[in-house]
Amino acid sequence: MSERDAAVRVIRELRGRDHVAYLAGGCVRDMLLGFEPKDFDVATDARPEQILTYFRKTASVGAAFGVVLVRDFGATIEVATFRSDGAYSDARRPDDIEYSTPEMDAQRRDFTINALFLDPEEDRVIDFVDGQRDVTARVLRAVGDPDQRLQEDHLRALRAVRFAARYGLSIEEGTREAIRRHAIELRGVSIERIGEEMRRMLLHPSRARACVIIDELGLDDAIFGDEVSFESAVMERLGQRVTYGLALGALALCRGHGIDADPTNICARYRVRLDLSNADRDALGAILGMVTRMHADWERMGVAEKRRLSGREHAPDALLLYAAWCSARGSDAANAIASEMNAWYDSEEGACPPPLIDGGDLISMGVEPGPLFREVLDRVYDAQLEGRVQDRDAAVKMARSVSEEPG
Ligand code: ATP
Ligand code: MG
Repeated sequence: MSERDAAVRVIRELRGRDHVAYLAGGCVRDMLLGFEPKDFDVATDARPEQILTYFRKTASVGAAFGVVLVRDFGATIEVATFRSDGAYSDARRPDDIEYSTPEMDAQRRDFTINALFLDPEEDRVIDFVDGQRDVTARVLRAVGDPDQRLQEDHLRALRAVRFAARYGLSIEEGTREAIRRHAIELRGVSIERIGEEMRRMLLHPSRARACVIIDELGLDDAIFGDEVSFESAVMERLGQRVTYGLALGALALCRGHGIDADPTNICARYRVRLDLSNADRDALGAILGMVTRMHADWERMGVAEKRRLSGREHAPDALLLYAAWCSARGSDAANAIASEMNAWYDSEEGACPPPLIDGGDLISMGVEPGPLFREVLDRVYDAQLEGRVQDRDAAVKMARSVSEEPG
């Protein structure tokens, strides 16, 4: 059973017990805007304790927020009780919630397009906030007073950017001004929540648009801790699906990080500001470092060095980023690098095949372990990568002569 069908079964079951139940939130928005919903949430006037008794496979999540997961029909469906949120004293979580009516439940939601309900049996939209008008006009508008809504939860500023970018919506004037006015307060939001929003924005194909909107709304200072102008050309040239490291690399270049600058600072800053994992931070550093080398050193590099770089983790991403950077400047400098690297990637042995000999071979040749060891292995491997040494015998022979060199 599809997830939608499972949600409809849940709704039917609840109605059979004289409850009101609708599809709610993101799935209604996605369907009306013509996108495939990611998950189908149900909203109902049944209380969590009732929902738990109506279905066999349930789990109570965020009990305080009145959400029950129902797994009876294959997919996991989130079933939430209509509620109104109490006061927001920490600009993040409502202090208390009250179970309530569909109308009040719509009022607590952030944007009108997110506040619609759908009766799937009658295919009828239940709209307390003029959300359908905004869907048609492709406008993102806060529910109620935008200042108050931004004040309650500053993360809504970033959610606005994400929805506007992803669906190509314009942000309604009053909502936009409220976001601007509250921009700096985004600093008070936990870096985990900011990091998660940014990650979702940057991984989505609409990432360049999102960054332009962040810039226009003056949110960059609060997010990144600096104010530099954003130039979207490099990011626009990335493919649809990218790794997070590649998206971050494009972000850095678009935000004025020089192609030949040391990435240490930008990595440290984004690590904190975007709550990056060590792996993502390391990927960003590696990609920016390799882009610098492609730009500044490639022509001077020997074949072995080029192959070693090509074989490093994230090298394909570095190439994609360098190609985007060059293309944004109308330069074709990346083409030659791409054809060299791709030839290695496409070859049977790859960019960096296993070395023909290793430390064990040197020991059996009687070479004393020490600093010389690494040097011998490196030089023999360079020769292998350059095709000067083609088999094991030749490698052993070269190792012997190198280790016997004076000095
Ligand atoms: P997606 O999951 O695609 O990002 P979504 O709209 O489903 O979009 P969720 O975060 O899953 O977003 O939230 C579900 C619904 O809950 C939203 O559609 C919205 O109505 C409401 N909501 C979520 N976060 C907030 C918030 N910070 N303030 C007000 N309402 C919110
Ligand atoms: Mg959702």
